[in-house]
Amino acid sequence: MPGLITLSKIRFFFITEIECMIQCSIITIGNELLIGQTIDTNSAFISKTLNDAGVWVHRKVSVGDNYQDIRKALDNELSESDIVIMTGGLGPTADDITKPLLCEYFGGKLILNEEVLEHIKYLFEHVLKRKGPLLERNIRQAEVPDNCTVLFNNRGTAPGMLFLKDHKMIFSLPGVPYEMTALMTEEVVPRIKKHFQLPVILHKTLITAGAGESYVAEKVKDFENELPENIRLAYLPQHGIVRLRLTATGNEKEALQKLTEHYFNRLKENVKDILVHDEDENMEYIVGRMLKEKNLTLGTAESCTGGYIAHLITSVPGSSAYFKGSIVSYSNEIKEKVLGVKTETLKNFGAVSEQTVIEMVNGALKTLECDYTLAVSGIMGPDGGSTEKPVGTVWVAAGAMKNSELRTETKLFQFRYDRKKNIEVTAIQALNFLRSFILKNQA
Ligand code: AMP
Ligand code: MG
Repeated sequence: MPGLITLSKIRFFFITEIECMIQCSIITIGNELLIGQTIDTNSAFISKTLNDAGVWVHRKVSVGDNYQDIRKALDNELSESDIVIMTGGLGPTADDITKPLLCEYFGGKLILNEEVLEHIKYLFEHVLKRKGPLLERNIRQAEVPDNCTVLFNNRGTAPGMLFLKDHKMIFSLPGVPYEMTALMTEEVVPRIKKHFQLPVILHKTLITAGAGESYVAEKVKDFENELPENIRLAYLPQHGIVRLRLTATGNEKEALQKLTEHYFNRLKENVKDILVHDEDENMEYIVGRMLKEKNLTLGTAESCTGGYIAHLITSVPGSSAYFKGSIVSYSNEIKEKVLGVKTETLKNFGAVSEQTVIEMVNGALKTLECDYTLAVSGIMGPDGGSTEKPVGTVWVAAGAMKNSELRTETKLFQFRYDRKKNIEVTAIQALNFLRSFILKNQA
């Protein structure tokens, strides 16, 4: 079975490559993570940041605020990893036990750090505007083990800590994501890069739309087979968009950059008919940039997405330069009153119909007075579907005035997810539809 031999060979190369990398374990601490109250976003961020830096995260463990469990997790992970990164358990409450535990684990004693204490006083007086003296428990946040390096936390009261043992690095970071992310990029990654010799890792991503993952894989299969051992291709499908990422590993940055560029250009050539963009950018950014470059404006008329498309567009900094507004015409009454959709259209074809979205896009062009408009109407579920129009049926229209003439284009989508995902996919696919419409109908 030659196919099987090739597969195991690939796996072998992949494993040896990873085994040569610096290994890291992540321990996230907190009962809230175990009962599903808080989603562990910290470890996802840490993994991504380390992967970009050339460190392999080979295990993630979550434990509760429990002394024995944290110790055991540390013993286990330290026996296998070069780096252990812990988050959580550094707050001022009784359940936060990471600091005294680490102090004891590495044989140190707690001492007051004056710089951290000054920072805590400043935060309480000037940022939180608290009156009265500091509480004892807040003062104790300025205590740190005398055998660690303090990682100053500009964004909060709990400092991060770095312990060294047998050339291994053990980091303890606050659980609050806003504080943890800053410490990761400003302190942890630079210190790891100084301490270990890391390989160079480069990522190049492109975005395709209009074809499923299997179809994309079929298109690039020859290219994939010809890739050198140090370049891997990953498929990342989401919301009907397939991202393709090349990851190259090596020791010499410039040579690796050239090699990656060469294969990336070949990849682009392979998918040119479904290529959306040759960078890892979200659809709202891509559309926003197109509009901004040409000084054009946009408005939306949203029924089933309830303003979600407008939310995505306005989450892009600087979107006020091109986004005029949205009419959330959820009810038929608003479709008629604000957008001028005809009563007969709604009666004869229904709210989820090509005729209705055309009138919606037209009405939005008039009311919002912009260059382009996007309209959506669909059935997001779980109820409201019929044999003729099942849940997931969505009509999208894009419109523009070109030389005083109205141009519209429509598309029917059929999604198959739950309500939340149907709304998200509708928004992304509608934006992609608008992107191609703008390309075809440049003002
Ligand atoms: P702590 O440092 O344990 O006091 O954590 C402070 C807060 O950070 C917790 O109440 C959580 O809301 C949040 N948090 C802790 N760990 C995580 C994690 N792994 N992912 C996301 N948020 C977290
Ligand atoms: Mg906690």
